Amino acid sequence: MICEAAVAKQFTTSEQELNGSGDESLDPLQEDKHEVVRGLVHKYRSRVLCLLTAECASYCRFCTRRRRVSDIEHGRISEGDIERWVEYLRNHPEISEVILSGGDPFVVSTDIFRLAVEKICSIPTIKVLRIGTRAPVSAPELVTDEKLDIIKSVKQPVYVGVHFEHPAELTDETIEALTRLRRSGATLYSQTVFLSGINDDYDTLYNLFTRLLEVGVRPYYIYRCDPVVGIGHFIVDPQKERHIMTELRKNLSGLACPTYVIDTPYGSGKIPVPLEFWDADVSYYRDFDGEPHNVVDR
Ligand code: SF4
Repeated sequence: MICEAAVAKQFTTSEQELNGSGDESLDPLQEDKHEVVRGLVHKYRSRVLCLLTAECASYCRFCTRRRRVSDIEHGRISEGDIERWVEYLRNHPEISEVILSGGDPFVVSTDIFRLAVEKICSIPTIKVLRIGTRAPVSAPELVTDEKLDIIKSVKQPVYVGVHFEHPAELTDETIEALTRLRRSGATLYSQTVFLSGINDDYDTLYNLFTRLLEVGVRPYYIYRCDPVVGIGHFIVDPQKERHIMTELRKNLSGLACPTYVIDTPYGSGKIPVPLEFWDADVSYYRDFDGEPHNVVDR
């Protein structure tokens, strides 16, 4: 596929969004159920997700959180909400890792960004800050010097997870934003989703992961697309995904090869998929709680 079309398809509405199936859900990862304080999702014992805003610089059509990413008013986080996050984190010392996400945390004002980062990182039990973003790709100008200075001032390690789908997204402007993030002291990793007609081929992913490593981003996860209502047309045949990942594992540098996972429905873990090196029945898997799930196919 021509690169521009592969990038555009991520953001273009399609009539196929109206075709649902019984396996789809608005919230397959059950985040709303685990939202213990407005905007704070606590699913795993030692880490939480803080949704700083419902605004995003991207509006991907396949967004797992599309039920709330477009609901900007409802998702707007206030200073009071951040105070309540801090209170919750202080009352739960078992939480050592906070992931700021959204929407996109780089969309919010410098003041809100500073307040969230500084307040959260002032808690002694918080040892790691992560920030999930696609701003370096969609709107590199949002990676401002002011926000980089805030990251630079944090004493904990800061890991910035950048969402990439296609090597054509590595423009000069994007690489420059990534370089500035690295210079602020952040460690960069990537997250990718298998998407039909966009990146479900060996060459595209080989180029993407190789280039990411070369520009200082460690490929971390590639996900099977979540079964969200309206995005079934993006879901790839699981055997095809597994074969591509097997070939990538053979040929990529180990540092460039992300872990291929299924994010379980009901929010119970990211489960690595065994590659073709193993003779395994991959039609179902067990989540972190031992519950079996069939792989959702189209
Ligand atoms: S960048 Fe992430 S949060 Fe924003 S629309 Fe895309 S998938 Fe959703």
